[in-house]
Amino acid sequence: MYSIKEQTKEQLAEWLKAHGQPAFRATQIHDWLFKKLAMTFDEMANLPKALREELAADFSACALEIETAQTDNDRTVKWLSRLHDGHTIETVLIRAPKRNTVCVSTQVGCQVHCVFCATGRQGFARNLNVSEIVDQVVLASREAGELVTNVVVMGMGEPLHNLQNLIPALEMICSPDGFGLGARHVTVSTSGVPRGIRQLADLQRPWNLAVSLHAANNELRSKIIPPKFRARIEDIRDAVAYYREKTGRMPTIEYVLVDGLNDSFDDASALADVAHDFHAKVNLIPCNSEDPRFAPPPAEKCEKFLSVLTKRNLQATLRMRKGKNIRAACGQLRQAEEES
Ligand code: SAH
Ligand code: SF4
Repeated sequence: MYSIKEQTKEQLAEWLKAHGQPAFRATQIHDWLFKKLAMTFDEMANLPKALREELAADFSACALEIETAQTDNDRTVKWLSRLHDGHTIETVLIRAPKRNTVCVSTQVGCQVHCVFCATGRQGFARNLNVSEIVDQVVLASREAGELVTNVVVMGMGEPLHNLQNLIPALEMICSPDGFGLGARHVTVSTSGVPRGIRQLADLQRPWNLAVSLHAANNELRSKIIPPKFRARIEDIRDAVAYYREKTGRMPTIEYVLVDGLNDSFDDASALADVAHDFHAKVNLIPCNSEDPRFAPPPAEKCEKFLSVLTKRNLQATLRMRKGKNIRAACGQLRQAEEES
């Protein structure tokens, strides 16, 4: 079934005309979808009931069917949603004072297979389409009570392997004709796909770019990311430089810290060189895994790693864990559901 959000203005106007409806219905429907964050035709109270039924017969208002919703004590909410073909995806809402951030998925599974990532372990089924991506923003916004303030593309999947749907989805999220979220409040996280980074850069939108580096040299990185989709750090750096030049945004390097793997003093000082080379800030993420091979370093070691970076005049943060009790890390909820 066609998604109503993916209809162009012309297509919707034509459909309304064919159904004997006045043109102003298009504005009403648009308002329900993009301003009032409707997820069903039934809630569109100012449309005649017969019209709502006709719309529901031809279009879907929401691509997601909520399977489970879990709330942590820091009010992080995590949903598992079922798609029309039975696959499931995760979406997380992270709340902070004055900030509601949704973490969206872009694929069912992922082809990259980073060693510590639950999503990668589950294999790959398919790309999400535009409405499957956008409706995660709607879902989280409804929970938050208003449009979320930030969108991070850090859920399941490698977003730059699904640019054909990611780009129209982000345009819909940011366009004044869509949800109207400021582009500076969107962050795309990638395992480092140089061609995709350049394609995104060419659009010249001020979306933030985060690159999951996890290692400061190619040899160490090869222990974390299998060869098939792993680019060389030098090639990623060149693509990131191009992104910076085209968008004016300062990139972020994400670095998942794993005890005994990439957390030594030397690793930190090599990362400082790379981060300067990338003109990037650094976000350190203690690994969140139940696999003993990928334990997070002790807190003091994480702090020490951080201080090596800050002493080298880098902007660096150690990410707090939110939603720990509901396994709000990459693919973990879906795995738990499937194992149970
Ligand atoms: N595929 C993209 C975006 C989704 S993953 C990417 O890799 O960037 C989002 C972030 O979660 C990445 O930085 C990824 O490395 C991190 N991540 C994956 N598994 C994790 C784990 N077990 N613990 C902590 N972070 C993890
Ligand atoms: Fe895919 Fe990102 Fe997970 Fe790597 S960390 S397997 S790229 S989702």
